[in-house]
Amino acid sequence: GSTIGIVGGGQLGRMLAMAAARLGYRAHILTQEADGPAAQVSAGITLGGYDDPAALRAFAAAVDVVTFEFENVSAEGLSLLADLKPVHPSPKILGISQDRVQEKTFLNGAGIATAPWAEVTDAASLEAAIAAIGLPAILKTSRLGYDGRGQARVSTPEEALAAFHHLEPKPLVLEGLVNFACEVSVIVARGADGQMASFDTVENQHKNGILDLTFAPARITEDAAAGAQALARRVAEALDLVGLLAVEMFVDRDGSLRVNEIAPRPHNSGHWTMDACPASQFALHIRAVAGLPLPEARRHSDAVMKNLIGPDDMALWPRIVAADGLIPHHYGKAEARAGRKMGHVNRLFPKGSLPGPFGIDAALGPLAEVSTQQD
Ligand code: ATP
Ligand code: MG
Ligand code: MG
Repeated sequence: GSTIGIVGGGQLGRMLAMAAARLGYRAHILTQEADGPAAQVSAGITLGGYDDPAALRAFAAAVDVVTFEFENVSAEGLSLLADLKPVHPSPKILGISQDRVQEKTFLNGAGIATAPWAEVTDAASLEAAIAAIGLPAILKTSRLGYDGRGQARVSTPEEALAAFHHLEPKPLVLEGLVNFACEVSVIVARGADGQMASFDTVENQHKNGILDLTFAPARITEDAAAGAQALARRVAEALDLVGLLAVEMFVDRDGSLRVNEIAPRPHNSGHWTMDACPASQFALHIRAVAGLPLPEARRHSDAVMKNLIGPDDMALWPRIVAADGLIPHHYGKAEARAGRKMGHVNRLFPKGSLPGPFGIDAALGPLAEVSTQQD
């Protein structure tokens, strides 16, 4: 097919559409934002809701194959699309990744470690979960959470009950707080023939629940980095993935790994690949979905990626674009609300010379004045 349908109109859709164009495909977006990040760079759009049968039918009629940048389409919407056109990754995989209960059940069933967790549907199951897991812990909505929204850290049963009452939608999951040494992720692409390509294991630092910095490669032992690669590939195989999958992991102090969550789409922690690899995560996603061969996910440089969040970071934009060595990526969003991802910046380093934690401020130039402290 020559037109790739992308469900969702945000920055991931924008970067997917740009990667599709470079490979000679037209991108057609299903979005509710006529002038959003993806619509601005796409050959065509269908304007409508993600669960609106008429919009889904019109979208399907305009495309040859369907993929996603937005995961939260209903099961009905997904099966409607899948009846009309090939959908990659499969509706089954989307269903698992959009629901933490299903996700953790799937992972544990495949023998993959997660934080200890329990489903919470009411006050009694909350009490049982606290008894089983202990406090402090994190209470999360099973569905629809992102960028740390829809979750609360709780230290006492009273705090847990208050959080239970205000977090929506139910059900929730209670997760044991992992005292991790660092957070890493691996992005793996898999073709219909089972061929896989995975980018190097990277390290992620969050600020206020939102990804702030990604370091490529992760500053962890070779064993831990290789373990993360093997884990991500195991998840992709267990899901019978066709497309791209990001696997977020915690590295414990003893080097052991637990999976935090998975996302069957390009991921914020893979944006460094746009400048540090011959084929980016977006190119690999498009290739897997379109049935093209997958090149190796090779890294020619080390990299640091810094997210640009909200009006404070965007106030630095004129200096960022003027700075030597910073590679800016703008998402085309009109309004810089607090906590909103507006763009990102990559900085490349020769392989093996990624700066340590104290060199990062200098490496980021004008971004040095944006605090890079973790929460
Ligand atoms: P995303 O934007 O990545 O989809 P999200 O809203 O789905 O985020 P999580 O990835 O579950 O949220 O959690 C956000 C961050 O909170 C994690 O990257 C990690 O820093 C911290 N966190 C989440 N769960 C735990 C846990 N069980 N133990 C320790 N820290 C955690
Ligand atoms: Mg998430
Ligand atoms: Mg996450």
